[in-house]
Amino acid sequence: MRLYLLVLLSLPMLLACSSVSHSPAAELNTSADVRELTVLYSNDEHGWMEGREPGRGAADILGLWREKEGYSEDGPFLLLSGGDHWTGPAISTWFEGEGMVEVMNTMGYDASAIGNHEFDFGLDNLEQRVRQANFPYLAANIQWKASETLPSELGILAFTMIEINDLSVGIIGLSTTSTPSTTNPINVVDLAFMEYEPVLRSTVTQLAVADPDLIFVVAHVCMAALRPLAVAVADLNISLMGGGHCNELVAEKMGETILLESNGHFRSYARAHFEYDLRRDSLINSSFSTEKNEAGSSDESVAQLVAKWRAATEAELSAVLGFSSREYQANDDRLQRAVVESWLQIDSTADMAINNRYALRAPFPRGEVTLADVVGLLPFENTIYAVELSGANVLQVLAEGQNPFVTGLIRIENDWLLAKTGRLIDTNETYRVLINSFMYEGGAGYNAIANFDSVGFDTEIHYRQPLVNWLLEQESSASQPLALP
Ligand SMILES: [Zn+2]
Repeated sequence: MRLYLLVLLSLPMLLACSSVSHSPAAELNTSADVRELTVLYSNDEHGWMEGREPGRGAADILGLWREKEGYSEDGPFLLLSGGDHWTGPAISTWFEGEGMVEVMNTMGYDASAIGNHEFDFGLDNLEQRVRQANFPYLAANIQWKASETLPSELGILAFTMIEINDLSVGIIGLSTTSTPSTTNPINVVDLAFMEYEPVLRSTVTQLAVADPDLIFVVAHVCMAALRPLAVAVADLNISLMGGGHCNELVAEKMGETILLESNGHFRSYARAHFEYDLRRDSLINSSFSTEKNEAGSSDESVAQLVAKWRAATEAELSAVLGFSSREYQANDDRLQRAVVESWLQIDSTADMAINNRYALRAPFPRGEVTLADVVGLLPFENTIYAVELSGANVLQVLAEGQNPFVTGLIRIENDWLLAKTGRLIDTNETYRVLINSFMYEGGAGYNAIANFDSVGFDTEIHYRQPLVNWLLEQESSASQPLALP
């Protein structure tokens, strides 16, 4: 009898699964009480609306979702993100994420976790972006330190309820507890990032009042933490946990919970498909996979938006950032110093910043300095990495490569003093050091750095951006031009 029931139940499921489309037409294959829902999941988009490679951007993935998944805005689909939307290439970073939210609105995202990089441009910017979005930004575990309440003033919600295809879905957000050290710490100084499990338990209790059919979690949390969390809260009947932050490609099941993560930058997506029996009030089938963003035909409306932001970025490159009293050659120490000192502005916990000697590639002009000049000076798509190095490691890095340029340290004959303390560098002490991604990846002979700190943190902040910010802050003019010290 039990076997017979299983066959009866699984036959329509097989039909539904083998169908290429999950459009409402596919429901004809299932019983009248069964509802389908497909989750399409991305994370760590990081401003790459144009994609890392041609044909793998936001317009392409949306085209692929329409063709391969049968996605339509009013169909039984949820588009969910694990957060970190806007820090990345100039097309997004230069406009502090406005273009990315516009693109994700047009794509039809339904909800997102808040990533650590959502704080990169400050709380006012975060609030602006959250209000601009047609979808909620969720984080149940962020509190004001002072009041121990959710920062709802910023538009942040702990959870949302979505009614779709006769199903009520409760979606809870989580932000990484590492946020205070993985964005500029100053931006989140008033906020606390609480441990996941207790918050998840209390939020599920709140959700229970609304009696959701399905509970999902979107978390800007790496799998190393999300997997044990899924096991620890197995009793909460969470059907899906989407991760983020570590750019992993994951589709798997821990107990009854599906775990998803896409590897970021719209290179791939993860999907989960659910079949829920309304009459029995239970999930009867689910499946999951990861898919590459390849061979989709570009969605016209998103492609037009991306083109608009590309044009705006090009136009902005002619922006005048300041005025210089003289020309500086690329190898001028004063110019090198201005670059590395600007990096220290993004991370007040950093002790020093080190740039490879030949990183600067064009002279800094006399008179008007435009963004195009800074792009020429620092032309690579490098980001700034924060690494933890012992004093001994630091001394080795300084002795290797090609005579790097360093700030935060003062050289007196053969000794190095830490500028913050005025004391000799301690070979056993750990220091937080900012470098560029090229060096971390072993460029210019710096192979040792990634060995010293194998989990170096990519701030995702372009190595040019702090200098741009610094130039603007100087408010120099033709009559009061800048002179680099
Ligand atoms: Zn992150």
